[in-house]
Formats: sequence, structure tokens, C-alpha cells
Amino acid sequence: MPDTPFSLYIHIPFCRKKCSYCDFNTYAGLDGSFGPYTAALCRELAAPGAFRRRPPVSTIFIGGGTPTVLPIKQLADILAACRAAFDVLPQAEITSEANPGAVDEACLRDLLSFGVNRFSFGAQSFNEAELTMLGRIHAAADIGKTVAAARRAGAQNLNLDLIYGLPRQTLRAWRHTLLQAVALQPDHLSLYSLTLERGTALRAQVARGELPPPDTDLAADMYELAAEVLQVNGYAQYEISNWCKPGRACRHNLTYWRNLPYLGFGPGAHSFAEKTRWWNVRPVPTYINRLAALEARAHPRPAMAGSETIDIALEMGETMMLGLRLTAEGVSTADFETRFNRPVTDVFGPQIKKLKALGLLTEDSRRLKLTPAARLVGNLVFAEFLPGDM
Ligand code: SF4
Repeated sequence: MPDTPFSLYIHIPFCRKKCSYCDFNTYAGLDGSFGPYTAALCRELAAPGAFRRRPPVSTIFIGGGTPTVLPIKQLADILAACRAAFDVLPQAEITSEANPGAVDEACLRDLLSFGVNRFSFGAQSFNEAELTMLGRIHAAADIGKTVAAARRAGAQNLNLDLIYGLPRQTLRAWRHTLLQAVALQPDHLSLYSLTLERGTALRAQVARGELPPPDTDLAADMYELAAEVLQVNGYAQYEISNWCKPGRACRHNLTYWRNLPYLGFGPGAHSFAEKTRWWNVRPVPTYINRLAALEARAHPRPAMAGSETIDIALEMGETMMLGLRLTAEGVSTADFETRFNRPVTDVFGPQIKKLKALGLLTEDSRRLKLTPAARLVGNLVFAEFLPGDM
């Protein structure tokens, strides 16, 4: 087993209330499952994982869901299980998601004392009507209060998530949200364009004509407005949807975009290591039952539902697709050649030539990057690197 540090993703599939746009594997009203779930998660973390030697861990991301709905003792147990199973490096980035208005200073302070050193808050909007439409449980004023509580608790690395492209959202309202977010001086901002996911309440409302569908042209204008506002306010864009202050890129997500190994724990979590991608069973009760079965505990991947081998063509394509999301660093042609023992132009020469001619790709200091114009049509660029197109 190489000593490449891994990232760990820990899924907490519980929320106080399901938001209207959310299709994540997370549920409200399962409080009775918290204890059995935490026990199951700790058992999965302790499973052998098919490693001869466990890799060191450079980042942990506790997401969901809303991790802080769990009692603090259970969050402590989960982090202790991570440390018992893996060599978590002293400088590891450890993030916990949390929601404004649903977490207090004492909880944030406890999490910091367990080694969490980054919080990601689901702010989403500073407009009350938008928060209501999204089914969020917090008010706009809660965002600032939660950020202040985190700072009082000692947190020094904060992210806010925001959503744009909402039904009835205006550019003016979006500018207000951006300026309110920036005024709180988070270290990092993740901006997501709304998609109406199948099975969500928001999609049903749009289908019934109760809300207008999102305006994609307006959403593109909102993206461009965000890029301007954030740049003026000292945030550098480093990924299609992510901006940060200097040195504050999310190291955990860089693992995904650099196509490096990670292990996911919890229902529906995905992992990628040793040329294989695998994923866990998705229903929470199934996950708990799997981990409760004695024979499963000795299984290297006791919650696995399926897996696929990542052949070299797919790994090369995914390295391009993911790496090009990194707007500032792009894909290093030297790193590509070191990793795959082939120059990138040998593998993707025609695609690179075509995308450069279309003004969608540029090369700078041996790095291939999306042009600013390509950031809104990234999926068209990424599709060029899928193995079927090689
Ligand atoms: S808080 Fe986040 S994970 Fe939970 S339902 Fe809302 S959007 Fe989904």
C-alpha cells in the first residue's frame, strides 16, 4: 500500500427537516436511529478495508445531512473511531458541515476540541423568502449569529454555501446575498446553481406551476456577477464553483478534483482507491443491519453495494475532467505524464487541439486550463475526455 495520504468522507444521513430542493441521502425524523447508526459507522471505520497497511489520512470531511444533529458524544465517538482506524496526520484538515441556527457555540467549541478545524455552514441565501422557498429551517440573521459563535469558539477556517438560480430570484437579490456573505468574511465560499432534482418538493412545485422554472440565462448572469463581486472582495476562484481567500482552498475537495484516493463511510458513500470505485448500500436501516451482522464485521468492505474497476482509459479521462474543474491550477501536463507514463497529448491530442481552437481550453506553464468562457459550459468540455470519445 503506498503512503499517499487518503481523504475520509463520513456521511451523517440525518437532518432536522428535509429541504425542498434536496435529494441527498438524508432523512428527517430518524432520531431513534442515531445511536445504532453511530455504532454502525464506527464498526465500518474499524473494518479492515482490504488494506495490508492503512494509509495516513490528510483530510476528513463530516458531511451529510447535518452532522451536528447527532449528540456531541456520538460525534466524539466517530472522530475517535477515525483516529483508532487511521493515522490521521497532525496537520489534517478536518471539516464538519453544520447549519446556521441549528448549532450553538458550545457544540462548535466541542467539535474544535475533538480536532475539527474547519466548518462549512449551509447559508444558501440571505433573503427570507428564498430561505422559506428552499425549506430551510434558519432565518437570514441566523447565519451571522452562527459565524460569530464559531469565531468565539475559536474557529479559524469557515465556509459558507450559497445557492443561486432560484425561481423568482433576481440579480439584485443575489447581489444582496453575495454582499451579506462577504461582509461576514468567511475564508471560503461555495456557490451552487440550483438544479431541480427528481423527487424533490421544489421540482413538484415547479411542475404544478406554483413556481416558475429556474431561468438558466439569468443563472449564468448570476454566476458572472458572483465572479466579479468575489474578486473585488479578495476571493480568488480556484474551482468552477469555489472561491477562497489565499491559502484557504478546501483540501478535502482538492483530493476529489485531483483524482486522488478517498474512502467514504456511511450509507451511499463512495470510495476510490487501488483502481477501484465502490459504493455503500444507501438505505439507513439496511446499512445499520449490515454492520450489525457479526459476519459482516470481518468483511473488508462490510457495507459495499457495488464496485467498478477503473481502467487506465477511464482514470485518464476522469483525471482530465476533474482536474479541469480547477480553474486556477488546471491539469499539469508533467503530473499527467508522471502518473500515466504517457504525455497527455499522446492520449488526448485531438481533443486538446479542438478545445483550444474553440477558445475553451488554454495552456499556460505546462498546465491545461478552462478559459473563463468555458466555465459556464464545462460539461461540454469534460464530455470530450470520456473514454467513449477517445
Ligand atoms: S440541511 Fe442540507 S442535507 Fe439536510 S435536507 Fe437541507 S440541503 Fe439536504
